[in-house]
Order: sequence, then structure tokens, then C-alpha cells
Amino acid sequence: MELKGRKSLLEQLKRPVKAGRAAHAMIFAGPSGSGRHSAALWMAQGFNCLEAPEKRPCGKCPECRRMLSGSANELIEIEPDGESARSIKIETARALIERISIRPEGRVKCVIIREADKMTIDAQDALLKTFEEPPPYVAFFLITERPTALLPTVRSRCVTLRFAPLKTDEVRSYLIRQQNLLPDEAERLAHLSGGCIGKALLWISDARLNQWHDKICEVFKDFAAPKDVARAGAALGAIAPKPAQKAAFASFLSAMLELSAGELLRQKPKTQLAGILLQNGLDAEKLLSAIMEFNRLRAANINIQYAVDALLYGMVM
Ligand SMILES: [Zn+2]
Repeated sequence: MELKGRKSLLEQLKRPVKAGRAAHAMIFAGPSGSGRHSAALWMAQGFNCLEAPEKRPCGKCPECRRMLSGSANELIEIEPDGESARSIKIETARALIERISIRPEGRVKCVIIREADKMTIDAQDALLKTFEEPPPYVAFFLITERPTALLPTVRSRCVTLRFAPLKTDEVRSYLIRQQNLLPDEAERLAHLSGGCIGKALLWISDARLNQWHDKICEVFKDFAAPKDVARAGAALGAIAPKPAQKAAFASFLSAMLELSAGELLRQKPKTQLAGILLQNGLDAEKLLSAIMEFNRLRAANINIQYAVDALLYGMVM
């Protein structure tokens, strides 16, 4: 596995991997798609890799392959669960403490906590002692967009690494070099991604981006008033009909609108969509708050069509 575009960060992660274990629990803070989860997996492989220290992780030995396939007992992933996936509760924290008390077959048991800021205060309290003094064979990775939402007592027991978005140019050249995108397409995606390669890769994996872009612009051509919401909602829903595409499509739609909103606020519409929205007399501030609500609903795993309709209403009400 490679850490896309993250050479300097990689240097910091290499030291503990060579040494064979992490000093502390680590917080990987940064926007979604900025490589936090890949970095945690990379370290989990590195800690357990069978190769010589300077070659870890090799990505090829049985331990590395087990980590990648997700079948390793040494890799525990925790994320918000329950119906609305809103929180990580104390029961989950207690079960985790129980699980890590068993020694691993490999060298280091790695616990990745996704959306760690969604741990309840009780759950964080229950884990405090463990973060402070984990068993010697355990490494924690707390992944979060909002590190300040974690208890200060948790933060003070962890080493925080920030995954800042990359420069647009860096993303663009990565997409051309590693993904063989044409310069125009790479340029557009790099802008939309806001410097988060993971987002661009999510969109590319669907390989229908240019169609998505053009169809979204088409839908908004006749979108100016509340009476247009139902038609536009159905048209957007039909662009990516398969359940597996919905999340990627929603993130792409959000990115296109966010970029347009920024351009409208600065009164410099450059993208096609911004031009269309301006022509239809949509208000930039309204647009921005509708997008924020859309992103909040997406993060809370609300049905995507519902979130899209709410977005559209917010834009014109
Ligand atoms: Zn290996």
C-alpha cells in the first residue's frame, strides 16, 4: 500500500514502524479522504510485517496480506454503530478492552477507531486508562475530522498527527501520474476534491464522472423555484441509481455545489455550474447553508434521496 502524496508524513510514521511499535495511542486528524485510514492500515501492516525493519511494510508477506484482506485478528476496527450510526457507546468500549486483553498471534494488535469523536463521553472515559497505558502489544489509531470534539484528557494521552489537505497541484499531478487521467479531468477533480485524494479516488472508482458532471449541470439548468424541487430531486436520483454509487455521487454533488457556492460568494463564477446557478438567481449564502445541512445529513447516514431533496429545498426556499 502506498500513502498517496504523503511523503513527509510518511517519514514520521516510518520511525515507529521500524522500531516495531507505536509509542502512544495516535490521533489521525484531518478531513475525510485525506489518507488517515490508509495511514493507520499502513502502520498496522508495518508493525506486523515479517520483513526486515527497513522494508516494512512489504505488502507481500503473509502478515501484510492478512492485514489487507481484513482477516487478521490483530486488526480491530471500531466505528459508530446502531441504527443511526451516531455514536460509539460504552458497551463497545468495554468489549474492546476485553478483546485487547488477549495477546495477538502477530506482534502488534492494532485498533482503528473511525470517527473517534463520536465516542460518547462514557466510552472515552472508559478507554482513558487504556489510551494512557495500552498493553505493550496494542496500538490505537483514533481517526477524526474533529479532534477538538474528543475529551481533552483523551487528547493529552495521544500523539496527534494532522492530515492537512494537499495542494490542488499535488492532487492534480498525482491523478495524472498514478491514475492516468487526462489533464482537464485531473484539474477538475483536484479542484473538487479540496485537496483530499481519497475523495477524488472514490469518484474515479465510479468512472462516470464526466457524465455525472454534465448531468448535474443539466438538472440545475431548470432549477430556480420550490416548484422545481420534485423534478430536480428525481432527476438527480436517477443519475446514480445503484445503491453502491449513491454515497460517491452525493459526495461529488456536494463538492460541485461547494465549489460553485465559493465562486458565487466571491462573485467570480468560473465553473459551468456556478454560471448556471447565477443565471437562475440562486443565493450564494442560502446555497452554502443548504450544502452544510446536506453534508450533516450525509454524515448522519440519512437516506440520500431525502438529503438531496432537503438540499434542493434549502437552495430555493
Ligand atoms: Zn510484510
